[in-house]
Amino acid sequence: MESPDDFKYFVEQFDDIQVLKYKLPGFETLSLQQKEYIYYLSQASLAGRDILWDQNFRYNLLIRKTLEAIITSYSGDKETPDYKAFLLYAKKVLFANGIHHHYSNDKFKPGFNIGFFARLINGTEYGKLPLEKGQSSDQLIAFLTPILFDERLFARKVEQKTGVDMIAESASNFYEGVKQNEVEEFYAGKIIPDDPHPISIGLNSKVVKVNGKVTEEVYKSGGKYGAAINKIIQWLENAIIAAETDKQKDELIILIEYYKTGDLKKWDEYNIAWARNTAPMVDYINGFIENYEDPLGMKATWEAIVDYTDFEATRRTRIITANAQWFEDNSPIQPQYRKEKVTGIAAKVINIAMLGGDCYPVSPLGINLPNADWIRKEVGSKSVTLANIAEAHDITSQGNGFLEEFAYDQAEADRIKKFGSLSDALHTDLHECVGHASGKLAPGTDPNALKNYASSLEEARADLFALYFIMDKKILELGLLPDEDAAKASYDTYLRNGLLTQVVRIKPGKDIEEAHMRNRSAIAHWVYEKGRPENIVELIRKEEKSYVRINDYLKLRNLFGELLREIQRVKSEGDYETGKRLIENFGVKIDPDLHAEILARYKRLNLAPYTGFVNPKLIPIYNPEGEMTDVEVEYVNDYLGQMLEYGRNYSFL
Ligand SMILES: [Zn+2]
Repeated sequence: MESPDDFKYFVEQFDDIQVLKYKLPGFETLSLQQKEYIYYLSQASLAGRDILWDQNFRYNLLIRKTLEAIITSYSGDKETPDYKAFLLYAKKVLFANGIHHHYSNDKFKPGFNIGFFARLINGTEYGKLPLEKGQSSDQLIAFLTPILFDERLFARKVEQKTGVDMIAESASNFYEGVKQNEVEEFYAGKIIPDDPHPISIGLNSKVVKVNGKVTEEVYKSGGKYGAAINKIIQWLENAIIAAETDKQKDELIILIEYYKTGDLKKWDEYNIAWARNTAPMVDYINGFIENYEDPLGMKATWEAIVDYTDFEATRRTRIITANAQWFEDNSPIQPQYRKEKVTGIAAKVINIAMLGGDCYPVSPLGINLPNADWIRKEVGSKSVTLANIAEAHDITSQGNGFLEEFAYDQAEADRIKKFGSLSDALHTDLHECVGHASGKLAPGTDPNALKNYASSLEEARADLFALYFIMDKKILELGLLPDEDAAKASYDTYLRNGLLTQVVRIKPGKDIEEAHMRNRSAIAHWVYEKGRPENIVELIRKEEKSYVRINDYLKLRNLFGELLREIQRVKSEGDYETGKRLIENFGVKIDPDLHAEILARYKRLNLAPYTGFVNPKLIPIYNPEGEMTDVEVEYVNDYLGQMLEYGRNYSFL
């Protein structure tokens, strides 16, 4: 094990990706029971990996198994440019959990040709290829070639362009043989009007047509993905024995029942139990949770993490939580959309111990769950910041030249270096602990009214809440920031990112698609436009380069407040048209000249825009009686090696 001082976060860089590892601070100080609990939950986090691959695209597993067979047994020359191009392609596919880019959703273009692909398969051990009964390797080649190489086939994982059949245009695997209007009709009949406790309809199933009739294949033991779900259940059953409290045991029992039945009422029941369980040191996420990959925003991808509390950093979020009602009462939103009583916001800082499913290898930075609005309102939610993941990001990004290139002047760069980490962390805390928890719907508003704009608008609402309050005197009074310059650092970073630099993740000529990016772009461009008459935010050209300068921080704060009020109204009233206009007019398009300039400047820095992580290996130690006596952490430095190991040990579909 590496000592903290010589810990190297960097593992590998390829294409637009850097792979890091994360540290498990204080893991050795946990009790044996806690370590045991973490170990079982971590196995449950890895066991569902194949589910996500299949959800992303229905041929992803076949493709991955083919790539794994080639990498481990191809007998040809591995030093040729063609093979190296193949290996790069394979690494990208493994990173994205499929053949579409995890962020842009575009299908990867192989850097080798069809002929070489055939040679690769013919040079691979026959017994390792994922052949169906009676299938020849030539038939496998013929089947996979158009899927990998034909640019028109399965071109996009998720397509949310308005005016197209989003299901037909998306390769993600939540629907098969059905049209968008058929799915909408199918689910319209299932919504119970004015149900105060609506289940998350359609969350855990694939919609297919059987004998001309639209029907659901539910993800559950004995159903769709049953083999992988059974493995998850098996590890969760082990975890019950090592759970820290009886409440946690009860909660796991409900989760297992849900996995066995697929019953969405059980899912809500589980989420209520989970949201109430705020005391334990060790916690986890395991289920079908986020709906970003479904063009209709209904079906959830499988994800999992295991985590444990970081007590030191939790102090900050305790203060925020203790003052949650003050924030709500002083928020600029319309009084009728404020919560009279903000309940149960459990905010804490955690360290990740394992990432799985849709959280691996790209980790979230903060988590705020459960998603169901009525549970959030009546029971509350858990909101966490991921300390060890943020630290890995921060430390690797210091001194890489980015700030020197894009900050307007030295004063801004100095401000960010001095306060950037702290103000970023506080922004995330405010976003997660009070931002998402704030506000309420008007009576009778359909929680799904904002459809494909719901995620972007929700992220915008939480970001604006954080932006508005970070500049408040209250923050200084509470001792959350040392002085006003720290809040300025937060505004500098947000606008520089939203107006300029976040587009480094997007290819020339493309629109912004991802929900968080749309949100940041929409907020930054809206305040820029609104503040133009008073020159509140200025875009400045200096030596052929664009910079952002904020001329009046307090007026900018008022603009954030104004937009927060409007977006809360849009959500509370389910005003789809206004929400759509805000995102489409300010969040989607990129000025092509500016885009080209930013990409060129960024390219010269030679940095990767996307970051993912390898997991540590948790190794249980047993005594001769077969009892677990310890769990050791082994940090992994081999990205491809870990991917292949997961393919060997956690492939259940
Ligand atoms: Zn959020």
